[in-house]
Amino acid sequence: MKTYTIPQKELEVRYSADVVICGGGTAGVSAARAAADQGCSVIVIEQFGSTGGTATNGLVTPYMHSGIAGDPGCSYTRKLIADKLRAMGGMEEDGRAFDPMVLRIAGEQLLLEAGVKILYYHFISDVIKEDGIVKGVVCVTKSGSYVIEGREFIDCTGDADIAVLAGAEYTKGNPDTGKCQPISLRYIVSGINKQAFGEFIHSESERTGVKNWGASYDGKDHVYAAVTGKGDWTLGDAFDKAVEAGDLDIEDKLYWQLFSIPGRKDSLAFNNPEFFEDVDGTDVEHLTKAQLEGKRRIYRQLAFYKKYFKGFENAYISEIAPMVGVRESRNVIGKYTMTGIEMLQRKKFADSFSQTNYPIDIHGKELNCKENVAPVDDGKPWYEIPFGTLVVKDFKNLFVAGRCIGVDFLAESSIRVQSSVRSSGDAAGIGAALACKRGVSSYDIDGVEVRSIMISLGADFK
Ligand SMILES: Cc1cc2nc3c(=O)[nH]c(=O)nc-3n(C[C@H](O)[C@H](O)[C@H](O)COP(=O)(O)OP(=O)(O)OC[C@H]3O[C@@H](n4cnc5c(N)ncnc54)[C@H](O)[C@@H]3O)c2cc1C
Repeated sequence: MKTYTIPQKELEVRYSADVVICGGGTAGVSAARAAADQGCSVIVIEQFGSTGGTATNGLVTPYMHSGIAGDPGCSYTRKLIADKLRAMGGMEEDGRAFDPMVLRIAGEQLLLEAGVKILYYHFISDVIKEDGIVKGVVCVTKSGSYVIEGREFIDCTGDADIAVLAGAEYTKGNPDTGKCQPISLRYIVSGINKQAFGEFIHSESERTGVKNWGASYDGKDHVYAAVTGKGDWTLGDAFDKAVEAGDLDIEDKLYWQLFSIPGRKDSLAFNNPEFFEDVDGTDVEHLTKAQLEGKRRIYRQLAFYKKYFKGFENAYISEIAPMVGVRESRNVIGKYTMTGIEMLQRKKFADSFSQTNYPIDIHGKELNCKENVAPVDDGKPWYEIPFGTLVVKDFKNLFVAGRCIGVDFLAESSIRVQSSVRSSGDAAGIGAALACKRGVSSYDIDGVEVRSIMISLGADFK
């Protein structure tokens, strides 16, 4: 391999803060707000031009339900954001479906009103560390490369970029195959006559005899539909005909799903196309391929809707995600690393920051989980995630939040949803603030105390 050596450069330290949040996605926004609420100075470093990450730039809506009666949420920042989204008409009353565009604004407001400094268009390319202590991160920007120093760091990059650059241990992909879950390129279609499409769903249900399986219309604005590889789906027949006619590829049918978006009467958000090969979210070749091939597939799918569905006659693509949807990539080894087996057993922890019963959700050509574990029957049908999963092993001031926390492949397939990710942000932000104020190691932070602070600020636990 041909190489060049770049001469060593001295880099200016341009900013410093008590707590530096690396990545401004779902976890990053919650962690930043939580650390600021504890009285710390906070900087958020983000490569794109808005907060929200996968939920906004990846167009991933809605919030998945935790599967626990009452959906407790376990996050006070989730409540703060939901209030803002509702006030802006960007969230339904149930607190689940939201408009990704409005979330971009709500996330920024949440941070700015707490005095957080946001640095957009900063890509973190390196980490400066000494003896298990992260001193600073190197950012590459249009204005040059420089260092941002901090006392505590929280890796909220989704891919554990900071921990990995710092030399932390991590895992990636399915331990049996080494492969990560499929990635997706999401998009929004507008110009839809939802009433006509809703009536089409009902007529397809009558015609095919597949009664509202993965498809529903409430007679007003709310439409839902899905088709996957297996089983009978209300809209499955249209897909089969299109595949047979060469209007769709079989992969278009293997995972297809749409959701309504609050406040957008003529629009629907699509959770596809999904890619089953070249799925490493840390490989830029794979990400580039997903964008190139994804847009081709999106236009093929639009042509399909126009030809086979009613209500799409004037439809057009109004948004394609600038960020590829990565379900899973690297996970750090934490002070505690939680397994999917513990999850299936519904294990409880006194220092948990999240309670959820969201299932194991492994995408792929076969959607499955081979483990067959009987859950404990303690009258509490959920599992909990302990604080130790947020503390990066062998580091004294490095926390992690979001989908890349210390869990194994199986557990990640459940904890990746936004509700757990948001509560991990609350907990990591509070934990980092306590470590900063007391001058102690991340290893000395007591998750029980963190949880009680979360509750005092409005987080609901069962
Ligand atoms: C296709 C798809 C569908 C999904 N469906 C649902 C759903 O319906 N409901 C649900 O609740 N969950 C769903 N999920 C899961 C959920 O949306 C994500 O797991 C979650 O949003 C991840 O949040 P995060 O904060 O960990 O990461 P992200 O939101 O991805 O945030 C990471 C942030 O860090 C930034 N960043 C990364 N690296 C760097 C760097 N080196 N320098 C600077 N900035 C950097 C990124 O730009 C980004 O803003 C879905 C996920 C996918 C991919």
